[in-house]
Amino acid sequence: MTKTVAATWLLPGAGKAATANQSVVIESGRIAGITAGGGDGSLVMPALANAHDHARIARLSQTGSYDVPLEAWLPYLTLLPAVDPYLSSAVSFARSARGGVGAVMAHYTRVQGLTDFQTEARAVAKAARDVGIRMALAVHCRDLNPLVYDPHEKLLAELSPEACECVTRRFLRKPVSAKDQVATVETVAREIEGDGITVQYGPAGVQWCTDEMLRLIGEASAAASRRVHMHLLETKYQRAWADRQFPQGIVRYLDEIGLVNERVSFAHCIYLRPDEMELIAERGATIVVNTSSNFIVSSGLAPLAEFIRRGCRVAMGLDGLAFDEDEDALREMRLAYNVHKGSGFDVRVSQDDMMRLATANGRFAVTGMTEEGVKPGAPADLLTLDWPALSAELIEPDVPPFELLLAKGVKHHIRDLIVAGRTVVDSGKVIGVDLPALEAELLRTLRAKYPTTADVRAAMPELKSALRKHYTGPLYCA
Ligand SMILES: [Zn+2]
Repeated sequence: MTKTVAATWLLPGAGKAATANQSVVIESGRIAGITAGGGDGSLVMPALANAHDHARIARLSQTGSYDVPLEAWLPYLTLLPAVDPYLSSAVSFARSARGGVGAVMAHYTRVQGLTDFQTEARAVAKAARDVGIRMALAVHCRDLNPLVYDPHEKLLAELSPEACECVTRRFLRKPVSAKDQVATVETVAREIEGDGITVQYGPAGVQWCTDEMLRLIGEASAAASRRVHMHLLETKYQRAWADRQFPQGIVRYLDEIGLVNERVSFAHCIYLRPDEMELIAERGATIVVNTSSNFIVSSGLAPLAEFIRRGCRVAMGLDGLAFDEDEDALREMRLAYNVHKGSGFDVRVSQDDMMRLATANGRFAVTGMTEEGVKPGAPADLLTLDWPALSAELIEPDVPPFELLLAKGVKHHIRDLIVAGRTVVDSGKVIGVDLPALEAELLRTLRAKYPTTADVRAAMPELKSALRKHYTGPLYCA
């Protein structure tokens, strides 16, 4: 079936000039051709990619966990009751689509656990298919340091008997063996891959995985040519821990075990050192920068410009923590650009860099697809925006369209999102699922089930202050 998308302005992608009045012809999920003429008031560009996310079911402010540093914030996620994984994932993916995202990494760190994992993974995949975006399910693997990046006995001793009982019961369950966790990934992949759905290894991060687990993943990823996604050096505490554990350096260690290469993407990397950036660049791994998230959970500021200067492939992530809690990938792009572009006339991140990292590099991290931009033969992943609304206040008629988008584009300007030729968002509305109805159902369910986590809620103040004490204590003093 042929579909034509008319563009008053076409932004073909990084390094390519915007062209006026074009028509993009789509056939069988790919761009068949671009012809002159057309123009129906749309700005057309490559769909955005969110290369680090967790299919999260709630926003921080909903549980009073805004403005809590990462190490103390992670336990807050336990306040959220388990819900139907189709419902939670469909809401998350539909919100992503509404925010301009055609490809998302679902690093599935929060398993709802109401059924066995394979059943849950099928529900997550169905949600992505129903919404219509490309989705990589990075299957969470974790078997180390359930509470802090160190032995937790001292921390438990700080807690009252009630809080200690709750924390032990909720956080210190014996993990499934590394071998079984890793084997599950291929089983899940066999069941759900296809139609834009892929599976990746999703080790939580080096501080959360045993050496055995990471080595198994390095080997399995090479054997199956399967991609890997993980957190790396998100906070200064993770850096301090890593420096204690790995005299040769944490990135060298990962390289030794086959986890620094083109198949791998690392979320955050805020505390990466120059030689580590160079190794990542040399090996062709991707770094996913999450500017909003890093602000909100007080992790810091990634040296994005330095990543680019040293030749790293960089992508953009929202990490379930968009700046305005609205999953708006256009706003995230603006924030990342302005935070990282440089000072004075020293431009360190260009508009082209930003286009590439918000679109092609992110889609590569999620899908492994290497095609870049809107051109014949490339996958038809397009975002169309309301040009009359964007340009309504222009005085100078020749303002470059991407500049205008960076200056003021938000998700309310989005008209359509097309992924693999299929219209996923039509006139600002997600069409595969009924997002407002699902959101209402999710909120109802979370409120109704909230009392089931009252024990965690009661223990949180004590746990939070014990965590604060741990990470400001002797192990972490510089
Ligand atoms: Zn994350």
